[in-house]
Amino acid sequence: MEDWQQQLHNSITDLQALQRRFGIDIAPLEEVARRFPFQITPHFWKLLEEPDDPLWRQFIPHPAELAPDTLPEDPLNEEALSPVPCVVHRYPDRALLLATGRCASYCRFCTRKRRTGHRAASEEELAAGIAYIASQPAIRDVILSGGDPLTLPDETLCELLSRLRHIRHVEIIRIGSRMPATLPERITERLCRMLARFHPLFFCTHFNHPRELTEESKEACRRLCEAGIPLHNQSVLLRHVNDTPEIIAELCRKLLTFRVRPYYLHQMDLTRGTGHFRTKLDCGLHIMASLRGRISGLAIPCYVVDLPGGLGKVPLTPPYLLHKDGQTLLYSPNGKAVLYKEEDIG
Ligand SMILES: *Cc1c(COP(=O)(O)O)cnc(C)c1O
Ligand code: SF4
Repeated sequence: MEDWQQQLHNSITDLQALQRRFGIDIAPLEEVARRFPFQITPHFWKLLEEPDDPLWRQFIPHPAELAPDTLPEDPLNEEALSPVPCVVHRYPDRALLLATGRCASYCRFCTRKRRTGHRAASEEELAAGIAYIASQPAIRDVILSGGDPLTLPDETLCELLSRLRHIRHVEIIRIGSRMPATLPERITERLCRMLARFHPLFFCTHFNHPRELTEESKEACRRLCEAGIPLHNQSVLLRHVNDTPEIIAELCRKLLTFRVRPYYLHQMDLTRGTGHFRTKLDCGLHIMASLRGRISGLAIPCYVVDLPGGLGKVPLTPPYLLHKDGQTLLYSPNGKAVLYKEEDIG
């Protein structure tokens, strides 16, 4: 067993450990954990400090997950957009390959809550997924997602990547993984050398709070970078976790020091059992407005809403442009209106 597999194996899955360490009553959480698995890696377990801190809220089960809301389990309509069980094909040129439902730690807000914790795709399912991608010449960009594809052993991943690379129309491959945050030991030199054989390959990390940006994670990102893999990050905007301009600004600034470019800030999807994480759209817009002019433009992600029904992601930006009485006004980052003369063309 490699060290990372040992660490994964040592993950905490028993609520009793919470009771022992924090003295909380775990009875209300038992049913939640039966429905949606509880697992947290030793690395993240060490980062927990106290109940309801930003790590706790992301990974410790909460009774609100079972609240009887009327939201769908699959708000992005991914099941309907699945031509075969492990592919989601929404945009003509891009497809998700969901190789496994396993993750190193389970985020309570996950949009794929309905399937996280499920086993890895079988050999036949993966073969069907790859055959589908091979049959669709419009697909240029394949995103390995899950679950977390890096729960798979190096050999399985390598086999999968080389089968994708043999498809002529696949131009780029992306890997979406939370491991640089949750299990940085997973990002071994060996893994990085293997990934580097499949360029152009991009890696999307998932950090939500500055406290996740540890020295170990920095080292994991360094290894990926040195294998020539461009890194970008997706965060989810989470109530009482990172829903302030200060926290998002610090997160995004620090990501750049890890050589990770902030890519998306996701509005929480309308997934059943995640209402306690959702912020208003205005909260996200307020954060975006406060970043502009205040931190490096390279550190500013794009705030996106994945439209219900699987209609696609759309960016939301604060209003900087206003047409009024035949005039064009633009707003500075500080909110000062500037009259902008648009030259007539021709
Ligand atoms: C988010 C997503 C993508 C990738 O979108 P980009 O905007 O290109 O990063 C592709 N397919 C599905 C189904 C998605 O949800
Ligand atoms: S790591 Fe990703 S797929 Fe896994 S639970 Fe978290 S958000 Fe969901």
